[in-house]
Amino acid sequence: MTAFKALGLEEHLLKAIADLGFETPSEVQAKAIPILLERETDMVSLAQTGTGKTAAFGFPMLQKIDVKSRTTQGLILSPTRELCLQITNEMAAYGKYMPGLNVTAIYGGASITDQARQVKKGAQIIVATPGRMKDMIGRGLIDISKIEYCVLDEADEMLNMGFYEDITEILSHSPKEKSTWLFSATMPKEVSTIAKKFMHTPVEITVGTKNVGSDQVSHEYYLVNARDRYSALKRLADANPEIFSVIFCRTKRDTQKVAEQLIEDGYNAAALHGDLSQSQRDTVMKSFRARQIQMLVATDVAARGIDVDDITHVINYQLPDETEIYTHRSGRTGRAGKTGISMVIVSKSEVRKIHTIEKMIQKKFISKEIPSGMEICEVQMFHLANNIKDTKINPEINAYLPNINEVLADFSKEELIQKVFSVEFTRFLNYYKNSKDLNISGGGERNFEEENKDSTRYFLNIGSKDDFDWMSLKDFLRDLLQLGKDDVYKVDVKDSFSFFNTDTTHQELVMGIFKDFKLEGRQINIEISKDTGRSKGRSGGGRDRGKRRGDRNDRGDRGDRGGDRGERRGSFKKRSGGSSSSDKPAFKGKGRRGSERPDTKGTGGRRRRKE
Ligand code: ADP
Ligand code: MG
Repeated sequence: MTAFKALGLEEHLLKAIADLGFETPSEVQAKAIPILLERETDMVSLAQTGTGKTAAFGFPMLQKIDVKSRTTQGLILSPTRELCLQITNEMAAYGKYMPGLNVTAIYGGASITDQARQVKKGAQIIVATPGRMKDMIGRGLIDISKIEYCVLDEADEMLNMGFYEDITEILSHSPKEKSTWLFSATMPKEVSTIAKKFMHTPVEITVGTKNVGSDQVSHEYYLVNARDRYSALKRLADANPEIFSVIFCRTKRDTQKVAEQLIEDGYNAAALHGDLSQSQRDTVMKSFRARQIQMLVATDVAARGIDVDDITHVINYQLPDETEIYTHRSGRTGRAGKTGISMVIVSKSEVRKIHTIEKMIQKKFISKEIPSGMEICEVQMFHLANNIKDTKINPEINAYLPNINEVLADFSKEELIQKVFSVEFTRFLNYYKNSKDLNISGGGERNFEEENKDSTRYFLNIGSKDDFDWMSLKDFLRDLLQLGKDDVYKVDVKDSFSFFNTDTTHQELVMGIFKDFKLEGRQINIEISKDTGRSKGRSGGGRDRGKRRGDRNDRGDRGDRGGDRGERRGSFKKRSGGSSSSDKPAFKGKGRRGSERPDTKGTGGRRRRKE
């Protein structure tokens, strides 16, 4: 408290801060607030998400504006509606002892008339998303010609989302002599450009090291065959019964697909992507906040607005194309002083990306193994045991007890425990009983034959005669198909034709796009090749396969990772002891999985068919 006072904040703000329960300023607050209070200056501030940036600009702005005036004096631009509303609420909470304060949120997807009315009542501070703001300025509904303070919050994300032009347009309606405060988690070229363009000798503040992920987050990767991605995801979820997570996919299509599949398999999951309407997105976010959704599958763009504390895991179902984006993803967890885990599911061909990310975040990833089915069963049973232990007895049960007791009178405590757990776990155990090890060993050759089972090779009647080499053809296909860098592989360009592979999951997409495809007026034909693409200097992989497979079967699922298991169980205990359990027992809802075996080839087929 006194620490906030020492920054130069006035009594009414200190009172609000006390109400909020903030005790000490965060680093960015301690650095920014005194400077912004003391002088009129531009500022560039680099700080990760969850470091308390809102208060860092919010307190000084509130202290500096004149609440007696109804003129708009402060403008805060933020990338999404979610963030916009959140900042508005925070500002209102900080300014609760400032009678007459009007902080108005301006964002798309809601009534423009209502928003205009709010502004007209005299909004000293406007918090806006760039799109709607530009719109309303254009229609003469908002006047920012007298603003004194302008905040560009999450500048990197705003630019990522393509708001450069809107921001330029908006700022052209603001006075030259104002203070601009830019906040960003990362400092890509585009942000420095905007800083140069709109700011004069800004004070620069950096919290932590540039581009370094929050220390609260640990980073793990899991090496699996590409086709086991989904099974791996399910195991990670099952091994963490209290998971509250965001799962990132690269495309809207994958996002939708993974979410649908999780729901079908009985998980509390939902998709969040740009093809949903605003009201659908609102519903999803509401359920997520209320913890009715444990696994939110999202695209990078849609997830930008997610500002929920307590997210336990971020799972990179696929790695982003740009390493920078990884920081945004992992920053969704480890917020507000909590710890979090960022998990990456990778196939062999992507491992080098892990090293690139390590360099960027200046932190090492821990290589972890996908838990075996038996480990998961153990975790789930402990989870249930702890749930039972922590459950408050419902007195209404008492009325039924005499009859229940009569039915169960003959059993000992041990027998009752065995029976209760059998009720819950028989299906679960059956499901995981013969599940295989999803891990692939770190070194050694790639397991080509296995991989090829789910890989499709195509023949394409364009080649080096058409000025393609393997790199340019790969780029061309990637752009055309909207796939990730590693999703088109084994590209082999001949004179007048070429071969390439994709995972079989993409076969429909590939065939669809090339169905009637012309390149510079010429009809391009595609065919599925019988050749798997395996003959290209890759002998040896197959030989090894038999051996490794045998290993796997012999050792069963328990493996020899006793130490690892102990550690996991420990952390599981801690987690389940800490928070009270949800009203939906994790595995209850997943009962349907008892009848499914996605780890086996049979359902693998089902999955592929759906895709
Ligand atoms: P950022 O904008 O950097 O991502 P926020 O401003 O949204 O972070 O703050 C993240 C969370 O931390 C919010 O829940 C906020 O109320 C809380 N918070 C901010 N400053 C403090 C503080 N000094 N002490 C305790 N909690 C804080
Ligand atoms: Mg923020």
